[in-house]
Amino acid sequence: MTDTVVDSSLQDAPEERRRAAISPSRAKDFLQCPLLFRFRAIDRLPEPPSQAAVKGSLVHNVLERLFDLPAAGRTEDAAHGLLDPQWETLQEERPDVAEMFTGPEELTAWLAEARGLLTQYFRMENPSRLEPAEREARVETELSSGILLRGFVDRMDVAPNGAVRVVDYKTGKSPHPSYQDDALFQMRFYALMLWRLHGTVPARLQLVYLGNGRTLTHDPVEEELVAFERDLEGLWQRMAGVARAEKFAPRPSRLCAWCSFQRYCPTFGGEPPELPADGVAHLLTVQAV
Ligand code: SF4
Repeated sequence: MTDTVVDSSLQDAPEERRRAAISPSRAKDFLQCPLLFRFRAIDRLPEPPSQAAVKGSLVHNVLERLFDLPAAGRTEDAAHGLLDPQWETLQEERPDVAEMFTGPEELTAWLAEARGLLTQYFRMENPSRLEPAEREARVETELSSGILLRGFVDRMDVAPNGAVRVVDYKTGKSPHPSYQDDALFQMRFYALMLWRLHGTVPARLQLVYLGNGRTLTHDPVEEELVAFERDLEGLWQRMAGVARAEKFAPRPSRLCAWCSFQRYCPTFGGEPPELPADGVAHLLTVQAV
């Protein structure tokens, strides 16, 4: 899934607020820092857009639209031609993205980087030979424990023999081998959801790193997904316990350097806003009782 500008699992319109669900990104937030999780999932504090995240969204949008074209038309030139219109659309959806740049030169360089990532994509895959079964698919499923999971899958390919491949584009570089398990967290999350939804374990999970042209693949098995489900249930119990106690402690790390909420964080001398009255109650709807 894309590092989206907005986490779609939590962008509910107030008038029709959906039941809360665990998404891979919010689960990872909690594991990184419970206070960060609170700011995003419960307070839903606004965050300024970052050039890296918006570039990721832009490239994902182009790759999604590319498959609207007939197979023979899915060329590198066509992908580059989609870049400007998709950038226009992004700015209409979120006007503050234009403020990320100090001037036209910086914007031009940033767009050139996005174009370079698209060029890299064509070195890794030939989209005219693919017919994805799904693109940017919203997947949602409730585990037998009553816990609701939700996520967006970049692409799903189905082979003639029915084997499913789940593909996720990353605009960054592939991780060091010792961090690969962390990278596969999101993919196992999708594999578990798809298995529980359709009764078949996806044959392959594939992460496509456009930042350095590497691909990370993993073929999951049932035992691993059973263990992953157990881990997720344990994680939810920890989240729910912290939420009921209203004690979202900061967990400082080197990742604080990228946190948008330092001014609300006690680690940096800030003070969190008052916890929204209905925020915890809504979070607890993750698990049906
Ligand atoms: S600054 Fe660090 S400790 Fe504070 S909320 Fe952000 S990630 Fe957590």
